[in-house]
Amino acid sequence: MNTNHPRKRIVIAGGGTAGWMAAAAIARTMGEAVDLTLVESDAIGTVGVGESTIPPLVNFNRIVGIPENEFMRETQATFKLGIEFENWRVDGENYFHSFGMTGRDHWTAGFQHFWMEGRERGHQESYDDYCLELQAAHAGKFAHLPDGKVNYAFQLDATRYAAYLRRLAEQAGCVRTEGKIDEVRLHESGDIAALVLEGGKRIEGDLFLDCTGFRALLIEGALHVGYDDWRHYLPCDSAIAVQTKSVRPPIPYTRAIAHDAGWQWRIPLQHRGGNGIVYCSRYLSKDAALDRLLSTIEGEPLTEPRAIPFVTGARRKQWHRNCIAVGLSGGFLEPLESTSIHLIQRAILRLLRMMPAGEVSQRDVDEFNDQQMTDMVQVRDFLILHYKATDRRDSPFWRQCAAMEIPDSLEQKIELFRETGRVFRKNEELFVENSWVQVMMGQGIMPRAHHPIARKMPDDELAMFLKGLRDNVAATVASMPAHHEYVAQYCGAKEAQAA
Ligand code: FAD
Repeated sequence: MNTNHPRKRIVIAGGGTAGWMAAAAIARTMGEAVDLTLVESDAIGTVGVGESTIPPLVNFNRIVGIPENEFMRETQATFKLGIEFENWRVDGENYFHSFGMTGRDHWTAGFQHFWMEGRERGHQESYDDYCLELQAAHAGKFAHLPDGKVNYAFQLDATRYAAYLRRLAEQAGCVRTEGKIDEVRLHESGDIAALVLEGGKRIEGDLFLDCTGFRALLIEGALHVGYDDWRHYLPCDSAIAVQTKSVRPPIPYTRAIAHDAGWQWRIPLQHRGGNGIVYCSRYLSKDAALDRLLSTIEGEPLTEPRAIPFVTGARRKQWHRNCIAVGLSGGFLEPLESTSIHLIQRAILRLLRMMPAGEVSQRDVDEFNDQQMTDMVQVRDFLILHYKATDRRDSPFWRQCAAMEIPDSLEQKIELFRETGRVFRKNEELFVENSWVQVMMGQGIMPRAHHPIARKMPDDELAMFLKGLRDNVAATVASMPAHHEYVAQYCGAKEAQAA
């Protein structure tokens, strides 16, 4: 890296969600300490999807200083309390992966152990009855509660999100350059020296963020770091997305509806719906997928359906030399648990923590790659669980999923839960115990045993404990307003109502 410049020159290539999230976060955090440029091409455009998120985005907004109600108004966002998985274990059965806690844990054992003890003693209430977010989602309710009692994320309009972040980034000093990157020039050392745009304009930098999406122009096109293909674990390789008019007030959750060769998403926003079909092209043709999507959406289409092929997997190095892949250029794990924007957020916050003072330290690079790859592998395992642990055998796709080999790390997690009811979270893993428990039980994995500590509770105490939790959830949900009314009051859905 050239250290002669008084201020580090950071160049972001690409202005999708990844590029503008990085630009806004770096500009608002580093201010005048860096010289920040973003290059994007209107002619190429963005992937235009990525509208369902997970709770850490709330924190990203806080760190970057983005007011939540303004952000929601600008992106026509709704609140999201989790995902309803429909037809995943068997056709016709649903389960919910909520963002909340279920019941109350003891330090020795998660709540599922007490719930299972209760079942043995005749308390037949569902595990779902102990989760506030889940019950609020099904009741179509939402409110911010004291002490952060409700865990939530957002469903947002991706195009508006990038435009909003762009405004924030530019206000904080980021300079945007319009143009198509034609060439990536390297120093003799092999580091990236400059981006050359169509027409010859040259943009030099010290540090380059590759946010060029699936094209990965810098990290792969110029630096050739290689890609780990994970399609043998995550076999879907195609999607078609379409936006529709809303047909009812938006619900506070995303729907993931399995079909015989993949699944479909429904994401309710204030002003419209987001829909898509994700499928494995080996078992479903593009025409058949499009037919299925258009015959099952609710509401008139507002856009031409857009086909997006992808290869699930991860770039072998997320940071190489003076280039960091952020977003789809770093890999894609498919959208089932809405984790891509989160991985962007993790990469940006990690980079801000490891911002080089002068030369890039290889120790930083190694640490970054190790942490980012750990995140991706952990998310990958969680996603595989949904496909592997299924009783569906009704199509070649589901038979392939049920028969596939899975990573040892996931095998250990599943079998440990099956034998003992236990789940352990490793290395700041994104998905907490309750997420694993909800999805494992939802997919039909029931523990054969539970922690003996639950047996210590006398009958009346256990009954009171369980009833107290259920009553509390029910009373809190009853006191919450309807989600769409809360959104309208919180962030002015007037624009949506007028549309
Ligand atoms: P892009 O949006 O593709 O942006 C790339 C940028 O690079 C654009 O600005 C483009 O113009 C620019 N560019 C490319 N080449 C050049 C060039 N030669 N010159 C100049 N500029 C160039 N994530 C979630 O978190 N939740 C979801 O629900 C979700 N759903 C998804 C559904 C599908 C089907 C897919 C495919 C992805 C989904 N994602 C989701 C992922 C999410 O869409 C992406 O992580 C997010 O949009 C970031 O994309 P990006 O900015 O990396 O790439």
